[in-house]
Amino acid sequence: MTARAFNFHGIGQPGPEIPEDERPYWISATALETFLDIFASYRDRQKIVITFDDGNRSDLEIAAPLLMKHRLDARFFVLTGRLDHPAYLNRRSVQNLRGMGFTIGAHGINHVDWARQDVSGLNRELLRSRTVLEEILGEPVTEAAIPFGSYRRRVLRCLRSNGYTTAWSSDGSATTLSGFLRPRLSIRNDTRPDTITRLLDMGDGIRCRWRQKLSIARKSLF
Ligand SMILES: [Zn+2]
Repeated sequence: MTARAFNFHGIGQPGPEIPEDERPYWISATALETFLDIFASYRDRQKIVITFDDGNRSDLEIAAPLLMKHRLDARFFVLTGRLDHPAYLNRRSVQNLRGMGFTIGAHGINHVDWARQDVSGLNRELLRSRTVLEEILGEPVTEAAIPFGSYRRRVLRCLRSNGYTTAWSSDGSATTLSGFLRPRLSIRNDTRPDTITRLLDMGDGIRCRWRQKLSIARKSLF
């Protein structure tokens, strides 16, 4: 089944500790609600996947209540190196999100570019982050979101050998709900709601689809 996956980051006003390159991905609670209204009213909710990266504190404080209000499911990909920092989730809040029925996945430890890591650095990022989350949750963690959507064949291979069954990228195109590598569209503070409704109604144009497929093939090969 073809689906559309949308990726969010922090919600609300980013604090001073949020890195510069992550700030364009923060949107207001009102903007999130506008997107959630679109998703909730879409005729086929099964074809929509909602994810949040980085493990910002706003996941629990803002996003989760709005998701519950709209009866929408979501996946939260947590950076274990930022756990317990005041601006981010702590161990208890990760358990709370899971208790609300959301899926928890890994996003590595330190938000580094996995495509630039050597194999031992990459294995450390993938294995340790998963182990920490599994200890917190007391259950297997099998999904990962790739930081910055940056990967190559080696990254995908290491993800598989470290026990992951699903890797979420940021390639923008439509996804299947059965493949190992699943593209998402990253929502930024300049993403317009009508872009989303257009995507949901029409799917990708054929040219755009081929361009995205080519880009994914290139990254998966090397
Ligand atoms: Zn991230």
